Amino acid sequence: MTRDDITRFAPSPTGWLHLGHAYAALFAAERAASGQFIVRLEDIDGTRVRPEYDAAIFEDLTWLGLQWQQPVIRQSEHFQTYREGLAKLEQQGLLYPCFCTRREIQQEIAQAGNAPQGPDGPLYPGNCRSRSADESAERIATGEAYALRLNVEKAIQLIGRDLLWLDRTHGQFQATPAIFGDVVLARKDTPASYHLAVVLDDARQGISLVTRGEDLLPATHLHRLLIELLAMPVPEWQHHRLILDDQGRRLAKRDQARALRSLRDEGWTAEQVKRELGFAD
Ligand code: GLU
Repeated sequence: MTRDDITRFAPSPTGWLHLGHAYAALFAAERAASGQFIVRLEDIDGTRVRPEYDAAIFEDLTWLGLQWQQPVIRQSEHFQTYREGLAKLEQQGLLYPCFCTRREIQQEIAQAGNAPQGPDGPLYPGNCRSRSADESAERIATGEAYALRLNVEKAIQLIGRDLLWLDRTHGQFQATPAIFGDVVLARKDTPASYHLAVVLDDARQGISLVTRGEDLLPATHLHRLLIELLAMPVPEWQHHRLILDDQGRRLAKRDQARALRSLRDEGWTAEQVKRELGFAD
C-alpha cells in the first residue's frame, strides 16, 4: 500500500456524520499517512446544507483523531472553476440546455415504457437533445430555467478510443460512461453538479488516489470520460466497502442512531469506533 498519496474525504454538510463517514474518512487518511489528507465540503446543494452540520464535521473528525490540510475547500466558493469547466465542454459542442421539469421527464419515461435504466434510475429520454440552437436561445432569453446536459454519445465519439481506469482493490476497468445517459453537469439552480464538481476539484487539489464507497463505483466510469474531455491528470481510485445497518442497508443520514455524536453521547470512545470499523492500531 502506498501511504504518500494525496487523498480526500468529501462529505456533504447535509446531516450528521455517521459510522459510514467515519470509515470513509479513516480509509482516506490511512492512505495518506505520509502524504496529504484533504477534507473538502461538497456543499453545492444549497437547499439541504446547514451551517451546524458543517461545523459538526470538523468536531467529529477531530474527535476521531484526524488531522487534515488547511485550508478546507468548500465547493460553494468555487463556482468560477465549474463555469470554466463547463465552458471547455461547451467549446467542444458537448453540452446542451435542458428545459425539462422532473415531472415531464417522468411522464416521458412512463409513456415510453421499458426505459433504459442507469445506476441512478431511468436514463434521460433525450427530449432536449435535438432542440435547435435558435429555439434554445429564445427560451433562455425569456428567462426559462435550464440545466446543462452532456451529450454522452457525442463525447464518446469525440474521444474515439477506450478509456481505462484503475481501482486499487477491484483492478482495471474499461470506462462505460454511457451507463448514465446524458447526465446533468449544471443544475438549473447551480452552475455545477456532483459529477462535474468532483472531477474538477480532485484535479485542482492534486488528488492522486480518490477513495469513496463502492456505491459510487459506477460514477467513476463517467468521471474518467470527463477527466479526458477536460484534459486533466488521471488519478487512481479505491472504492471501499460500505458500512451497513442491522438490516443490511447502507447507512444513510436518516440513521441518527449511528451518528458519531449519538455514539459519543452514549459513551463510545473514538478508539472503540475505530476498532468497530477495523482500524485498530
Ligand atoms: N459528497 C459525496 C458523499 O457525501 C462524496 C463523493 C466522493 O467522495 O466522490 O457521498
